[in-house]
Amino acid sequence: MDGEENRSSRWGIGDTTLTAVVEAETPGIPVGLFFPDATPADVRSAGPLPAGAAGTDGTIAFRVQSFVLEHRGRVVVVDPCVGNCKRRTLPFWNDLRAPWMDRFSAAGFAPGDVDLVVHTHLHEDHLGWDTQLVDGVWVPTFVNARHVYVGDELDWAASEDRRADQDAFADSIEPVLDAGLGTDVSADADLGDGLRLVSTPGHTPGHASLLVATTAEPLVITGDLLHHPFQFAHPHLAEIGDTDPATAERTRRDFFAEHARAGTLLAGTHFPIAPLGRVESAAGSLRFVTEAPSAT
Ligand SMILES: [Zn+2]
Ligand SMILES: [Zn+2]
Repeated sequence: MDGEENRSSRWGIGDTTLTAVVEAETPGIPVGLFFPDATPADVRSAGPLPAGAAGTDGTIAFRVQSFVLEHRGRVVVVDPCVGNCKRRTLPFWNDLRAPWMDRFSAAGFAPGDVDLVVHTHLHEDHLGWDTQLVDGVWVPTFVNARHVYVGDELDWAASEDRRADQDAFADSIEPVLDAGLGTDVSADADLGDGLRLVSTPGHTPGHASLLVATTAEPLVITGDLLHHPFQFAHPHLAEIGDTDPATAERTRRDFFAEHARAGTLLAGTHFPIAPLGRVESAAGSLRFVTEAPSAT
């Protein structure tokens, strides 16, 4: 049975609904595992963090989740997690049997209802549920959806180096393209209906965040330009998956400054416990202040 930490949370933002569907949440992770130059003291000195986001020992909690938007009559899935039965080099993502699809259904969604799948980037924890293994064959899950990929990102995912290391292209992208369900776009593409990609490179070459215009206020889904709320106080700290750490740092600094000034609603793709909130300036530093969900 699902624990409290895996329950889907839902927020209403004007006429748009945002639902977090969790694949896994893990507390107590040594911060150095994801941020090689970070120490527990960096986490403890990051100011007040959302409850449960970090331990008093400076460990962090980490989530793999998808955001589902109900927006202007469309159902949009953003970053469909690791997926089940995928062969992956990271042991904690290899050959999963996670009940993500049960949680997706319990939140009121059916795969056939999804109109659009957006990928902020093509790391293996952002595309897995695009396909499922049926009778030994990888088949698309969201059979009525347009799957959006940034062109530069698709080239990177299809490169020989990347495929030798982690062949998510073969099991999670190719079946979607072969079925005619994929579209490649630019990193700042207008996706229509108030949805727009915003280029946020560095973590990966074609990384993009998603800007959602709602009837109340704009919302930005970050993707992996950052991974945990403690980074607002320490934008210089690279994450282990950043392919171009200098560009990633520049992207974080620009993004933090812009959205602290604007008070934008941000949904942090790997943020644990309470992923929606705003970045605020306090005592010369930035911190993340969460928004309570409307329903769980
Ligand atoms: Zn990533
Ligand atoms: Zn990720």
